Amino acid sequence: MRFHDVFSFLLRLSAATAAAVTSCGRAAESADLIVTNGYVLTMNDRKDIHENGAVIIKDARIIAIGPASLAAQFTAPKTIDARGAIVMPGMINTHTHASMTVFRGLGDDVPDRLRALIFPLEKALVNRELVYWGGLHGMIEMVQGGVTAIANMYYFEDEVARAAKQLGLRGVFGQTVINFPAPDAPEPYGGIALAKKFAAEYRGDPLITPAIAPHAPYTLDAAHLRIIARESETLNLPVLMHVAEMTDEVATIRKEHNQTPIEYLDAIGLLNRRLIAAHCIFVNDSDIALLKARDVGIAHNMVANIKSAKGVAPALKMFNAGLRVGLGTDGPMSGNTLDIIGQLGYVAKLHKLDNHDRNVMLAVTVVEMATRGGARALHLEDRIGSLETGKLADVILIDRDATHMIPFYDAYSTLVYAAGPRDVRTTIIHGRVVMEDRKVLTVDVADVAAHMRTIAAGISAAVAKGIR
Ligand SMILES: [Zn+2]
Repeated sequence: MRFHDVFSFLLRLSAATAAAVTSCGRAAESADLIVTNGYVLTMNDRKDIHENGAVIIKDARIIAIGPASLAAQFTAPKTIDARGAIVMPGMINTHTHASMTVFRGLGDDVPDRLRALIFPLEKALVNRELVYWGGLHGMIEMVQGGVTAIANMYYFEDEVARAAKQLGLRGVFGQTVINFPAPDAPEPYGGIALAKKFAAEYRGDPLITPAIAPHAPYTLDAAHLRIIARESETLNLPVLMHVAEMTDEVATIRKEHNQTPIEYLDAIGLLNRRLIAAHCIFVNDSDIALLKARDVGIAHNMVANIKSAKGVAPALKMFNAGLRVGLGTDGPMSGNTLDIIGQLGYVAKLHKLDNHDRNVMLAVTVVEMATRGGARALHLEDRIGSLETGKLADVILIDRDATHMIPFYDAYSTLVYAAGPRDVRTTIIHGRVVMEDRKVLTVDVADVAAHMRTIAAGISAAVAKGIR
């Protein structure tokens, strides 16, 4: 008998006792939502699994979790029958730019696309409306793929946050700061003032954590990076940033400062527990030790990094060293899709290939990175990332009935090597059912798609006229 079997037996025993007490006349405890009869993957410290389990939710939190018999102790206005589904913590996308769905598929196979294509397109076309609709569309895709929390960076970030609140998606939302006139700030570095305004607007929001997002070490000067470090400390604002992603970034910082990007950011004062660093491809062992000592969160974007042919970040080494490593998709111009389930197999297989060892980057490790690891990367692990009593109720149901999901011997292996985003049946965020049986309940998906097609037609026309 494995440990979790013993544990679930004991839980079953105690639940049976409690149920008996209840049947003797004690009133059932009230809850908001009961999810029962599912294969519950808790992702807690012991990796407990309840093969026929229940999760009880009240006031946005998990108030009880255990075998399905637990459900009898509670009454709730709504019960979800999770028969035939894995019930697990929602996936966390630790690095994305949701609004860039409007540009998805443009110039996918061209060199230097950031400067030659993306920046000019954004300069010409990005406005509030585009950011809102593109952001909402991208976040719907994430909810449909079982993502319950994100870290997003873009222009007009308040529009992305507004859309996320309507949809019911949790996240850390970073207002972009960059050293040239941006779509939302005519003066270089105007994003700093916008970030402060945005932060004041959303402070204390249960779903939205406002943040500041300096684009990268190579697109901001040191003086402004220092200002951002100070503001982040004063306002306790998370910082989202692309770090150690480009070979020319590494070369320039080496030439100008004789430092690695990680050493450079440490000297600036940005390397601390408020930083969520995306990519970290070009980091050496002493950089990794420094990232660990400074308690930095890491977003590992395997699929985007493969497509851009930049390199394989030492994510396994960082994870094994105890760093806060989560998974990200990057923007939809980089990785094209925004769900995390589609990343899992690539993360496992590329690290095996990179290490020439099929016994590394185990499926359970990859699922951990997608859930608890993501929560740790965002410094939200006390609230989300696992199904445990007291945590916020970010829960997904994944169907086990599809042809490719049968047979079902090992949940982690099935999730990493077989599951796809369309297997997600239901997505619950902050105790609210945002998608049920594949139907998004909070926004009109068809209406959003219609707006997207209109915006895309305008972009097509602009590209045809030669905006590059
Ligand atoms: Zn990015």
